Amino acid sequence: MNAQDCLNKLRELRDVTFSTVSANGKPQARIIDVMLVEEGKLYFCTGRGKDFYAQLMASGDIAVTGLTRDYKMIRLNGKAKKLSDQKVWIDRIFEANPSMNGVYPGESRYILDPFCIDEGQLECFDLNVSPIERECFSFGDAKPEKKGFFIADTCIGCGTCAANCPQQAIDEGTPFVIRQRNCLHCGLCEENCPVQAIVRRGEGDAS
Ligand code: SF4
Ligand code: SF4
Repeated sequence: MNAQDCLNKLRELRDVTFSTVSANGKPQARIIDVMLVEEGKLYFCTGRGKDFYAQLMASGDIAVTGLTRDYKMIRLNGKAKKLSDQKVWIDRIFEANPSMNGVYPGESRYILDPFCIDEGQLECFDLNVSPIERECFSFGDAKPEKKGFFIADTCIGCGTCAANCPQQAIDEGTPFVIRQRNCLHCGLCEENCPVQAIVRRGEGDAS
């Protein structure tokens, strides 16, 4: 699995959740079609009258989430950018997605504007294996980010965390080590470490 594979999965799913934040700071989610995936970029479109459009134009911050039939959750966080050459892109999108002609027949298609997500973070979270597997990637010019927990050098090696981890994702060592690809990010280890050696990374920490 790599970043392109994650983008391809989103295109295969096609109808996935696109989330933004409204002008008054409220979360907003809706199902939108992934129209194209090419060369590490994801393309979609929306009508200029929609709240979604206004939210995209305000910040471009976007989260995209889909679930495959075999229970792999694909998540994307990035920035959406409006594309120039509006008619060229809308025509390409309609060519690749002919069902759009039923929704926006004839010239009405040009009320849509094309957008691209060309950088951000991707994650594939597989709940169908034991232990679970999580793979994270950055794409475009985005720097890799780390999430979840790590164990600091103040670990005294008591083993409490490893004994209680629901995914057996902690290995012995000095200090003990969390296998990041198998970690749920549940926080049970952090809550029970007697010396507070388990540290939660902040959202969006760069690696
Ligand atoms: S519970 Fe804390 S001190 Fe004990 S092994 Fe785990 S990280 Fe180290
Ligand atoms: S956060 Fe949860 S799954 Fe991850 S290592 Fe700690 S206890 Fe295990």
